[in-house]
Amino acid sequence: MNIHEYQAKQLLQRHGVAVPEGEVCETAEAAREAAARLFGSGQTLVVVKSQIHAGGRGKGTFKSGFQGGVKLCRSVEDVHEKAGKMLGQVLVTKQTGPEGRLVRKVLVAGAPDIRKELYLAVLLDRAVGRPVVMASTEGGVDIEEVAAKTPEKIVKVVVDPALGFQPWQGRKIAAALGLRGELMSQAGKLLKGVYDTWVQSDASMVEINPLCIVDGPEGKPRLVAVDAKIGLDDNALYRHAEIQAMRDLGEEAPLEIEASRHSLNYIKLDGNIACLVNGAGLAMATMDIIQHFGGSPANFLDVGGGATREQVSAAFGIILSDPHVRGILVNIFGGIMDCNVIAQGIVEAARETKLALPLVVRLEGNNVEMGRRTLAESGLTIISGDSMSDAARKVVKAVAA
Ligand code: GDP
Ligand code: MG
Repeated sequence: MNIHEYQAKQLLQRHGVAVPEGEVCETAEAAREAAARLFGSGQTLVVVKSQIHAGGRGKGTFKSGFQGGVKLCRSVEDVHEKAGKMLGQVLVTKQTGPEGRLVRKVLVAGAPDIRKELYLAVLLDRAVGRPVVMASTEGGVDIEEVAAKTPEKIVKVVVDPALGFQPWQGRKIAAALGLRGELMSQAGKLLKGVYDTWVQSDASMVEINPLCIVDGPEGKPRLVAVDAKIGLDDNALYRHAEIQAMRDLGEEAPLEIEASRHSLNYIKLDGNIACLVNGAGLAMATMDIIQHFGGSPANFLDVGGGATREQVSAAFGIILSDPHVRGILVNIFGGIMDCNVIAQGIVEAARETKLALPLVVRLEGNNVEMGRRTLAESGLTIISGDSMSDAARKVVKAVAA
């Protein structure tokens, strides 16, 4: 699950990470009031930031033609006007794809004077099997570009999860970022706070781009997280009621929301052959074999080991709601799963949806005879596959025809 920038900043702030003071607003009027409070408390510059689950907002363009999802403003009226131009509009950035994202909220925040933009992230390095803290002096820009063109400008520190983030690691990163004196001690505290946020929220990634050196009170430099992005591990969400409450369904693919309501693991893909499979490993193998025979899977779907008839039926409905689907492959290996439950679910769903697409079914395992009989007696046109490769070949052929 992903959360918005303003929510990521709330989590970071709890771990002592400095973020600009701000308020999230859903109307231009609320933005005007928030701006009045910020200017009233002595801010000279206020930033209006579109809240969507995608980066690249600063350089994005609204479908209305308005340029930029992040705008600096010098007056209350300016904030009101910019917020009005963002709210209710669709913002297209490098990360949203051409369809863009509807902006429903803006963050109105104090905009400090930025002296330098840095990059900081904590993520899991799967190759090393440990968390890694990544930092760079090249903040504010695409980190992928820095990694490709000037990889020496990225420093990486691997953390031993049993020991946690160590002060010497903080100093090492701070030194690599060219931070000295007062900024080095601020960096140590901030880096630990960002690492702790990552661990304690069960995040998959925390990214601060840019992390900024700004002019603090009395001209003293301060380190502030000006942008923040946090991705969370769905499997650990049950431990964080408070983070669960941050979920924004408006930002998620409707079919994936429907799937999660039925506890199904569904991920939409670009192809046209839908698959319904039990077990994540078998589901991946099924996608591979479809590709192998020249087809293209429309989704990943694992109905799980103990799916009910209702779940199978819901799963069917979900894969069929994708307008690109031209054929369906059901691949079930019933270990715990009763093949007849799957068969009944398929028949029910096929009738309800008046299925007209080619449907290839490969059933094997527990109670398979009963399952085959249910399918045979249903009166539906079903192509049966004798093996996984036979089924894959048949569905690819049917879709091509
Ligand atoms: P992103 O484009 O979605 O990554 O959004 P960011 O929050 O990173 O904003 C993009 C850029 O806008 C930053 O790299 C900054 O250069 C600028 N920016 C964002 N917030 C502020 C701010 O508070 N003060 C100033 N001076 N610039 C800002
Ligand atoms: Mg950014």
